Amino acid sequence: MKQEPEEVDILAVGAHPDDVELGAGGTLALMAMRGRTFGILDMTRGEAGTRGTPEIRAQEAEESARILGASFWKVLDLGDGCLRTDRQAELEVIEVIRASRPLLVLAPLALDRHPDHVRASRLAADASFYAGLRSLVTGLPAHRPQHIAYFPANFVPDLNFLIDVTPVFEKKLEAIRAFKSQFHNPGSREPETFISSRAFLDGLTARAASFGRLANVTYAEGFISQRPPLLEDPVRAFDGFEPGFRTERA
Ligand SMILES: [Zn+2]
Repeated sequence: MKQEPEEVDILAVGAHPDDVELGAGGTLALMAMRGRTFGILDMTRGEAGTRGTPEIRAQEAEESARILGASFWKVLDLGDGCLRTDRQAELEVIEVIRASRPLLVLAPLALDRHPDHVRASRLAADASFYAGLRSLVTGLPAHRPQHIAYFPANFVPDLNFLIDVTPVFEKKLEAIRAFKSQFHNPGSREPETFISSRAFLDGLTARAASFGRLANVTYAEGFISQRPPLLEDPVRAFDGFEPGFRTERA
């Protein structure tokens, strides 16, 4: 997996390896299937995790990025369990944004149980704005993504839009299972954690099914957006809610 950023449509940012896959893996796999390009940026190496090592987690993250169809996977070292958001950290993220020139950034929601997710959210949003300042000279041309949308992790407030990930849901699970050290693995001798339980994986599927219910599809991912998405066709956008009405009627 390529680690140097290249130009992509979407940059998906996470605090830890596996954040992006959990929150937006289906959307990314779907976008790749439709010819969109994306890169994954993990802000930390996951060294504070109870299970696995940074080396193992790097291999897992690369494998997972490959499964989803990423153009690149890049990892920074901003400190797991103490994620830095100082100017130096900001500049590192700005460099990745300027090098990958995304139209859309996907980032963790700033409302969460894990403070690293909160900090990563803010850092992604701030860096996305500052990356567009021409007065900030870094060697790469200025670039500001058009928008940032946030994916929830532990806490789920009202969602602003849904993506039907039914066709790629098995691929999302495959990408998550690539993190063998982190998630349910009956053969592992490492200590059980919140996310390594069977219930966590079951809950992930249950949540996707629950989000899917909102649009009468099998599985969906939900996002939070500070500005509303512009719909091309509100009939189509809400089609299918009443059983039997999902039609191709123009
Ligand atoms: Zn995380």
